[in-house]
Amino acid sequence: MSSKVPPIILNNGVEMPQLGFGVWQVPDDEAEQAVATALEAGYRSIDTAAIYGNEEGTGKAIAASGVPREEIFVTTKLWNSEHGYDATLRAFDASLEKLGLDYLDLYLIHWPTPARDKYVDTYKAFEKLHADGRVRAIGVSNFEPEHLRRLIDETSVIPAVDQIELHPHLQQRAAREFHAEQGIATEAWSPLGQGKGLLEVPAIVAIAQKHGRTPAQVVLRWHLQLGTIVIPKSVTPSRIRENIEVFDFSLDTEDLAAISALNEDRRLGPDPSSFNMA
Ligand code: NAD
Repeated sequence: MSSKVPPIILNNGVEMPQLGFGVWQVPDDEAEQAVATALEAGYRSIDTAAIYGNEEGTGKAIAASGVPREEIFVTTKLWNSEHGYDATLRAFDASLEKLGLDYLDLYLIHWPTPARDKYVDTYKAFEKLHADGRVRAIGVSNFEPEHLRRLIDETSVIPAVDQIELHPHLQQRAAREFHAEQGIATEAWSPLGQGKGLLEVPAIVAIAQKHGRTPAQVVLRWHLQLGTIVIPKSVTPSRIRENIEVFDFSLDTEDLAAISALNEDRRLGPDPSSFNMA
């Protein structure tokens, strides 16, 4: 099946599907099946990370899928303990080997870990990998505007993407505005708010009923209409399919306003300014 997902054009001209499949907390042996189901359902972008421990399963599913490599957009992330120029080059090789790939589409610094104070050197290694043609786009994750400003001042390639926690309870307006000014694409992690309370919020349930859709589809549609990239995760085949069936309806201005009113600036994950875990 060919992809139904439109692309976002990154700041270096590379096209990235606006909706992809995330595999955080999916064990390696289950990742192969989950990614296979996602590719079969039409996903063409997969988001993994070295720390997820499932790059091998992800790579096996890609190899077995029969989908040409150049039609799949693969993202992985450098873990905190590997910051620094030489360590980053080694970590990249290790990730690529586990994935069984000879190039990557997007490589992200997973967290800035400000206490380490090595993200600038780390990013310089990313610039080398990019210049050497081993990765098509480079970016960051969990970078606040202050961290991005420093990278932009001290390095030469503006990050293509900043992947941040973003959902109706944490709408990240200031970060999105900063990204837009700098030409950085915003990518939402935990776009469904990890599924828990968010999908039962009455305003979202009401909009879902109005459109004859599910709450998850409404939340994903909200992201798409904001212009962010989303990477919902599920290991349930019916939900994997449901989460990509979001390109044949639209939210109206009233729906968008009702979801905008749900912002509580409430994080599910750690605060990037103080998260320094190895
Ligand atoms: P998510 O918001 O995608 O929610 C996933 C959960 O929602 C599932 O486990 C399931 O319980 C539920 N769900 C999924 N589809 C559903 C549906 N259709 N109906 C009802 N419930 C449904 O959460 P996530 O996994 O935290 O985030 C998505 C991806 O973002 C991750 O897999 C990972 O790739 C990425 N991520 C990145 C970071 C980072 O630091 N960069 C952190 C967390 C996640």
